[in-house]
Amino acid sequence: MVVAATRSVPEECIRLEDPKAGLDGYIVIHSTARGPAAGGCRFWTYDAPEAALADAMRLAEGMSYKNASAELPLGGGKSVIRRPAGDFDRKALFEAFGEAVERLGGRYVTAEDVGTTIADMEAIATNTRHVAGRTARPGFAGGDPSPWTALGVFEAMKAAARLRFGGSLAGTTVAVQGVGSVGGRLARLLAEEGAKLVLADIDGARASALADELGAQLASIDTIAGIACDVFAPCALGGALDAATVAGLKAGLVCGAANNQLATPEMAQALAARSILYAPDYVVNAGGIINVAAEYLGESEDQVRGRVLAIGPRTAGILEMAEAEGLTSSAVADREAEAKMRRPEVAETV
Ligand code: NAD
Repeated sequence: MVVAATRSVPEECIRLEDPKAGLDGYIVIHSTARGPAAGGCRFWTYDAPEAALADAMRLAEGMSYKNASAELPLGGGKSVIRRPAGDFDRKALFEAFGEAVERLGGRYVTAEDVGTTIADMEAIATNTRHVAGRTARPGFAGGDPSPWTALGVFEAMKAAARLRFGGSLAGTTVAVQGVGSVGGRLARLLAEEGAKLVLADIDGARASALADELGAQLASIDTIAGIACDVFAPCALGGALDAATVAGLKAGLVCGAANNQLATPEMAQALAARSILYAPDYVVNAGGIINVAAEYLGESEDQVRGRVLAIGPRTAGILEMAEAEGLTSSAVADREAEAKMRRPEVAETV
């Protein structure tokens, strides 16, 4: 029996099994209440099919919350393919996956995720049009989602800083953990805004080059979370906020790009107990999925910008409701997303 740590039962789980193509995995359609279930394809090593299914169920549910929160006309889904142990024909595998996506007639839309590439999306696209994250075409939405993710986090941080500190980010100190595709761009936006920066990355050369460019300070990866600052921006891996990290935070606000920042759900309460404002991760980092969705929905860059800029006021609204109702921001974000999953007619806001 599979036990997935999900809050709700998905609409549909589809087993993918094509030994000739090396295809072994699942597509999970969590919700189509707002539109086609959208979420990337993870290509990863799983010991057993049950582990792949549990991961797909958890990730699909997360996409329903993220897509609903961003008010996209999309539901949530995810696919997980087990990486074959021996040699395999990658193109044939993803073409076979494309056939499986096509059989669902548009109820599931796939894209890149951990372990998959643009080339994989092109292979999928030979058999279905229900795929995004393909090669960028000039004049169309799509391409690298990271700049949009960074802009959304920046807008959320500005809105949250107004609530927490009563002013702009100019002159505040922001500690950025991880200066990769998103964290690096976020740091540049913050520097333009007049924030003081402290940067850390396990790639020390990357962090130091950016610090030179922006006149920022450097911290080690072990100390960045506890550095004296106003805002802590987790932009590396998930689980950055565990009990020890939360206890050591000196920031008054946490707002960053990383997925699944809370190591356990209880960390939301731990942050609130220390009066640290937490901007919920899936609300603030939705810029990437907004851009990927635009590619599929045929939206323009202006529409993408409108949806991404809306992340700021949405974040502020959630933080204000949490304060007024004595709830954690995570609880309010989930409640608001669940309401949008039940009321798909609110999808058209841009
Ligand atoms: P990336 O791989 O480009 O950058 C991550 C950076 O973090 C790298 O420079 C890496 O060296 C560094 N890093 C890893 N472990 C670290 C540690 N312990 N301490 C400090 N630095 C560390 O990834 P990205 O695309 O910038 O994504 C960053 C986070 O944002 C991820 O959690 C990702 O899931 C999430 N996210 C990204 C997007 C997007 O559009 N790229 C969208 C939504 C969410």
